[in-house]
Amino acid sequence: MISKCGYIALVGRPNVGKSTLLNKILKQKLSITSRKPQTTRHAIRGVYTKDEYQMIFVDTPGVHQTGGKEMHKLMNQAALTALYDVDVIVFLVDPFKFNEEDERVLANIKKHDKPCILAVNKIDKLADKDALLPTLEALHAKHDFTALIPLSAKTGKQVETLLEALKPYMPEGPHLFDEDDITDRSARFLCAELLREKIFRLCGQELPYATTVEIESFAKKGKAFHIQALIMVDKENHKRMIIGERGQKLKAIASQARLDMERLIEEPVFLKCFCKVKSGWSDDMRTLRQLGYDD
Ligand code: GDP
Ligand code: MG
Repeated sequence: MISKCGYIALVGRPNVGKSTLLNKILKQKLSITSRKPQTTRHAIRGVYTKDEYQMIFVDTPGVHQTGGKEMHKLMNQAALTALYDVDVIVFLVDPFKFNEEDERVLANIKKHDKPCILAVNKIDKLADKDALLPTLEALHAKHDFTALIPLSAKTGKQVETLLEALKPYMPEGPHLFDEDDITDRSARFLCAELLREKIFRLCGQELPYATTVEIESFAKKGKAFHIQALIMVDKENHKRMIIGERGQKLKAIASQARLDMERLIEEPVFLKCFCKVKSGWSDDMRTLRQLGYDD
């Protein structure tokens, strides 16, 4: 059996279902070790290993329109270079809402001469599958996609088909991770993302995009994971929003995030969350480097 190992960029605008899809793909395979891969320039979000195949899903931060802030420059750079090094791209879209943000992601894909699979998510929302056909046709015509796969990240329908479609693009090579491994970094990353999602879900859209989450410590003690997270905001009133009346909001955020983290890690989690105002943090290069936007 010749081993295959490759990198996959999962791209798409916010809310198309990237996290849901990754969780679905990685779910049965998730375990955490502190072993670091020897070589990778990527921010790894998850590693899926089955038989001779190892698929490394890498994170590609979104491309922003505004070019002014240091953060946006670094993120754009990261998004662009991430696509240079991958073997295949999965462009995830929501067929019910394809907008200019999706077009921007697609424009970025077009700059790279890489095989790209169009994955059309959320098909569970549609009772009549035929009604989707004209939309699928229109989406497919937008680029020279190597395949079009309608799927549902939520129910898992056709997710296996996507994995099958990725296999031919995995080059021969040794596995970079042991079977069942996922890096410490990606577990941290996923936990930070879960917490960030809860913040946005519970605080509504008034919070700016600049709200960020840093996992300050992530340690296994016995069977449980002890996680300490720092929520950084730009303004004092944002901090008040997150903390809420007598700390009730932060408590709800943390307890919902903890449940999701436990589901992800499949071990008990003790989560401590702090909220801090860091004025002008998005222009502070040092902080950005610490947060992993640059390597
Ligand atoms: P991301 O921003 O691309 O990571 O998107 P998320 O994974 O956070 O998903 C955004 C929203 O879409 C969440 O409310 C998900 O529950 C929902 N969602 C994701 N995939 C599906 C799907 O296949 N079907 C349905 N009905 N909803 C989905
Ligand atoms: Mg997400």
